[in-house]
Amino acid sequence: MIIILKNNDYSEENPSVQKLTEYIKNYDVNISKIIGSQTTIWGLVGDTSKIDIDMIRQFDIVENVQRVAEPFKNANRKFHPDDSIIDVAGKKIGAGYFSVMAGPCSVESQEQITDIAKKVKNSGSAFLRGGAYKPRTSPYSFQGLRDMGINMLLEAKKAADVPIVTEIMDLSHLDYFGEVDIIQVGTRNMQNFELLKELGHTKKPILLKRGFANTIEEFLMSAEYIMAGGNSNIVLCERGIRSFDNKTRNVLDISAIPVIKRLSHLPIIIDPSHATGYSYLVEPMAYAAVAAGADGLMIEVHNDPQNALSDGAQSLTPEQFDKVMQSIIKRVEFEGKIMQR
Ligand code: PEP
Ligand code: MN
Repeated sequence: MIIILKNNDYSEENPSVQKLTEYIKNYDVNISKIIGSQTTIWGLVGDTSKIDIDMIRQFDIVENVQRVAEPFKNANRKFHPDDSIIDVAGKKIGAGYFSVMAGPCSVESQEQITDIAKKVKNSGSAFLRGGAYKPRTSPYSFQGLRDMGINMLLEAKKAADVPIVTEIMDLSHLDYFGEVDIIQVGTRNMQNFELLKELGHTKKPILLKRGFANTIEEFLMSAEYIMAGGNSNIVLCERGIRSFDNKTRNVLDISAIPVIKRLSHLPIIIDPSHATGYSYLVEPMAYAAVAAGADGLMIEVHNDPQNALSDGAQSLTPEQFDKVMQSIIKRVEFEGKIMQR
């Protein structure tokens, strides 16, 4: 962290200097002073992650403050140069291993979820996704089958022998997630810090989706919340961010892949379904994601998209998904990655 001081008297006797020095002493950092003819700079060396930059700005002799180190540690590539591999039920994600998670937006019936589970697995999906607790914008929309939906997913998991991923919306439901292989935290809960902290105390793999209006730094700070509790099993998911353009549901931030790979060792997958909102955009965006270095994909697949209880417009039929997978698998192999099935 760099503190630029106002043109002033910097002697130790100056009470303003004393106050700032006293404040900084609360932290495990050393001050390295550069005194120029026009400007004086203090460099804070050490663990500055706990320092509130706005508090420093409040001191009367401070002109400006800048962070030079990211505020996240556990998720930071600087302290963990190698890519992390998240191993879930024998399927790997990250460091050259590529996994697809596919299935309906919402679990609608036992027959539906079991049938889709078998089909997406057959097409090369490593995981079955399906929403039981659904975060819907309108309280009048279908809210998911809730705990019954989890039970149906568990049945489908057994019948098709495929690990499952499903979203948690509230801590009070955590007990239902015992047999769930990956717990998803959706875009709306990315900054539900109490939920993140509690998931940090579990050993469960977490699929953390980026908030639709959150920066990459905020995204990584949310991963940091989970990791600070001791759980490093995190897969990040870029699912589109909000923009002014309404031709797509969101705007897929493909650049988030290389940006996050530079900043963090955690794997990142792409959800082209929620990012675009339209089934015709899923294949090109999935392909772009693989080319940009993604570690996996999450794709919505529905047996009858036109009558789906949620997100039908962006869902592929199992037949369309199979075709998309054929081109994705080729591209994954072209990238030298190992497809997990
Ligand atoms: C979902 O995966 O069905 C979902 C609701 O995703 P998001 O949180 O990205 O909107
Ligand atoms: Mn959905």
